[in-house]
Amino acid sequence: MQRTIADTLHRLRDALTGPHTIAFLPALCLGAYWYGGEQMLVLCALALPALVALLNLLPNLTRRDADQDLQTTDGLTRLPLRARVLHTLDQILDSRDVTGRTTACLALEIDDFRGLCSTFGDPAGDLILKTAARRIQDVLREHDTVARLNGPRFAIALAPVRCADLETLIQLSSRIQAALSEPYSIDATKIFATCSIGFCMPGRAPAQSGQAFLDAAEIALSDARHNGPGSIRAYSPNLAPRTLEHGSLSADLGAALENGQIIPWFQPQISTDTGEVSGMEALARWAHPDRGILSPGQFMSDIEELGLLERLNEIMLYHALMAIKTWDKAGFHVASVAVNFSPTDLANPKIVDKIRWELDRFELEPSRLSVEILESVISSSDNDTISRNIWALKEMGCGIDLDDYGTGHASIANIRRFAVKRIKIDRSYVTRCDLDRDQQSMLAAILTMAERLDLETLAEGVETVGEHAMLAQLGCDHVQGFSISRPMSFEKTLGWMDSHNRKLAQTPQIGRRAS
Ligand code: C2E
Ligand code: CA
Ligand code: CA
Repeated sequence: MQRTIADTLHRLRDALTGPHTIAFLPALCLGAYWYGGEQMLVLCALALPALVALLNLLPNLTRRDADQDLQTTDGLTRLPLRARVLHTLDQILDSRDVTGRTTACLALEIDDFRGLCSTFGDPAGDLILKTAARRIQDVLREHDTVARLNGPRFAIALAPVRCADLETLIQLSSRIQAALSEPYSIDATKIFATCSIGFCMPGRAPAQSGQAFLDAAEIALSDARHNGPGSIRAYSPNLAPRTLEHGSLSADLGAALENGQIIPWFQPQISTDTGEVSGMEALARWAHPDRGILSPGQFMSDIEELGLLERLNEIMLYHALMAIKTWDKAGFHVASVAVNFSPTDLANPKIVDKIRWELDRFELEPSRLSVEILESVISSSDNDTISRNIWALKEMGCGIDLDDYGTGHASIANIRRFAVKRIKIDRSYVTRCDLDRDQQSMLAAILTMAERLDLETLAEGVETVGEHAMLAQLGCDHVQGFSISRPMSFEKTLGWMDSHNRKLAQTPQIGRRAS
């Protein structure tokens, strides 16, 4: 509001002091004399300069406004905001010819922050942000500037330096990542988080302005985030902005589903006993003609809003079954393919018939399909249709996998009631399990419970060889994650399995559970 008034006053001042008004000043005075006589002429001659003088005080007024922006801090982290980083960058860049020093800008974001909040609650999210802000400051030098942008995103302007080259910035980014990957203690729980970083080096910036530096760092950050958690990217001009405008994306969704742009990619699941591929999870990907490969996080909420979940599920199921048939024919044994079912899918009274029909069409045993159901669905569901459908799918012979186990508070009674065959232990229990005793204890407790209940176990989000080895040692049956493979297109699975099988034949111990 304050800004709108200031803008209006500015426009008025510009109009009154602009050349066109000055040119018309004599005519204005003459008009005033003609209209109201001498009195009006005097009034006009006095009032106009007074008004212009008054409006000329405005720069001070708006400077105060800008100053206020610079002074404003974020209520949660006490960090300054975007305006401060832009201002600092501008100042350093403006004086670089005199000082011979330059700067660089980094943008960083905590990975899967929304997931962390939905698992551990918003107060935990706030604590992570506050702690992260402090840790970032501890890593930096005193005169570097850190600001909070929006949500879990921060920006850094380096204090004047002689050189900010690739190596320096990668080292700095790695130090920040290490600091932020230390566990966050909330009550008795330890939470693990990672962050992605994008930066802009002075030599690569599209222009020598604060705005250009920050925009470039954020473009690099988008690219880093797209490459998975914990990535670091430097800005280069060929990085296209990945910003997605809401609306234009959803307008294309219906057509994309129908013309085959949205299909599953597959991520392998490995048996820790044998090292062999025991399954594949089908994960939706949109091969967007302009924007490249998009992940569910970028379009799933639109699919839901547009009521297209059922169509997505049909497409995923069809391609997943087609894939397992083709792997069979190519001589690769994949015991089962897992498809994610949303609560909406499971509430569909026709879902069981549809699945039966698809399995028949491909002449596949129901055991070749694993139905992935979020733990939260079975913990909260008093929906009879959902319960009946899950039970019918189990009776038919499909595997029931409990997804994101450990985040949804399912009771043992419900695990039994829904005939769960396997639990997929959430990534939050897996991260750094090789390095952290508490993580190991939690995993051991979950695995013991699963063993007693005769449930199979799969750990997801396994990112390092160390985590993989620890899970095998603790007796987890299957593992899935980036350390084994990222999700890949169907075409790539054939080559990947071929090379995996060959590696397995050469090094029989790798990936096997220690006895
Ligand atoms: P999810 O079912 O928990 O799938 C696992 C997610 O973790 C996938 O993200 C996968 O790419 C990612 N991931 C795998 N390994 C690692 C790792 O080592 N580290 C980390 N940090 N992440 C890893 P993606 O593909 O983006 O899918 C996100 C979510 O979207 C899925 O989470 C699932 O809930 C949903 N989704 C995907 N496809 C479908 C679908 O066809 N239908 C429905 N209803 N939901 C789907
Ligand atoms: Ca899943
Ligand atoms: Ca999961």
